Amino acid sequence: MKKDDCIFCKIAAGEIPSTTIYETGEFKVIFDIAPASKGHALIIPKEHYDNVFSIDAEVASKLFPLATSVAKALKAETNCDGMNLLQNNGAVAGQTVNHFHLHLIPRYEGDGVKLACEPGDADKEYLAELAEKVKKRI
Ligand code: AMP
Ligand code: ZN
Repeated sequence: MKKDDCIFCKIAAGEIPSTTIYETGEFKVIFDIAPASKGHALIIPKEHYDNVFSIDAEVASKLFPLATSVAKALKAETNCDGMNLLQNNGAVAGQTVNHFHLHLIPRYEGDGVKLACEPGDADKEYLAELAEKVKKRI
């Protein structure tokens, strides 16, 4: 269902211009308007899903095959040295547009782009208990 107040729904519908790299019936791949690096792209399902917690499983199953194709094409043309695939869910995780999207961020030696998280300490007891509980829900 299209959301009237959603910028990516409007981009998906062609109501707001975007530099479109690729399009299928279900996805639009565009360049980010404020790129973290040269070639920063976004894969956007045309259907509105807020985030990973609500995306349709069948749509999601088509996302990664498309992402691998786009990643290879971007790498071939940008000559990037690496690439981050990033997907934020919820404001606390840095999501600013509440329409599911996957970032493809080409990385270049010395580009200074900061995305990495700091390593923490593993609480083995907590993780063992959590693994048992989460396993039952998958
Ligand atoms: P996130 O913080 O994961 O929600 O990422 C949202 C991304 O959408 C940011 O990188 C923005 O630069 C990008 N963005 C916002 N508006 C537009 C737009 N009109 N066209 C292309 N990218 C956009
Ligand atoms: Zn939307």
